Amino acid sequence: MACPTVMCQVFHNIREAAAWKFPNDGDVCFTSVSGFVFLRFFAPAILNPKLFQMRNEHPDAQIARTLTLISKAIQSLGNVVSSVLCGQVKEPYMETLKTLILDQEHITAVKRFLEIISSPSRAQGLPVDSTIVLKEGMLIKRAQGRSRLGFKNFKKRFFVLTNKGLSYSKDKTKATLGHIPVCDILGAESLGEDSFHLKLMVQIIQPDRLLYVQASNTVEEREWTRALRKVCQSNPHRVQTYHPEAFVCAKWLCCKERSEKAPGCTHHNRMNAKVNVKTARQKEQAKQCGNRS
Ligand SMILES: [Zn+2]
Repeated sequence: MACPTVMCQVFHNIREAAAWKFPNDGDVCFTSVSGFVFLRFFAPAILNPKLFQMRNEHPDAQIARTLTLISKAIQSLGNVVSSVLCGQVKEPYMETLKTLILDQEHITAVKRFLEIISSPSRAQGLPVDSTIVLKEGMLIKRAQGRSRLGFKNFKKRFFVLTNKGLSYSKDKTKATLGHIPVCDILGAESLGEDSFHLKLMVQIIQPDRLLYVQASNTVEEREWTRALRKVCQSNPHRVQTYHPEAFVCAKWLCCKERSEKAPGCTHHNRMNAKVNVKTARQKEQAKQCGNRS
């Protein structure tokens, strides 16, 4: 079971604190963790997947209704560890569910799950060995090295993003041609169309280079960007600024800076909005550089 170490630490601390505060409550080591993970985490995420960045759009009325029912079922499942709440179902239409999930088998399974995620060994950060595939599919990749003629070529490659990194190969069955570990994925941003006169380009920012890939449609572009950002969001070296265009003909097309190592001219913010961070002096400099070219 893959649960982030920091979450396990939180669950463990909640459990310890609750057991200390309510020493006579036999259920508290389960209900304290369950109340947090089921009620405040799973149920709201199912009810509002957009808010938790699992979907790009809000669900329509029919799907929202289904999600509400699933969310209520999950809450009931979380309550099975409480001798007070177990079996309590407010809505009559949820009654049939009681016979399905409120049995000993489910109670034991939920208790086991809560025990695992709040165990002291998990809280101490045992390594997560399992590789979890987050997104995969074909993208057009711009070669990172130069070809003999000095042009960069574009090739279709099969990409796989996991919790360990981003790999690519000729197709799904072929050997890996390249791998970027998570620690080297410092950001993922859209690339302006002026750079290569191509739409739907995404730049993957690495410590000393950029990898440019092109998605097949806007949904794919958004999903790849989102998945890559999610992978590197706990990366301590994640970039705060970037260049929205590429370094072409000895200058960054966005800010006209002539040094390839010039810090990004645009701030990355969580709402995905581009915020220009240039000062008035830099703007003047950029204008002059632009006029020279
Ligand atoms: Zn720039």
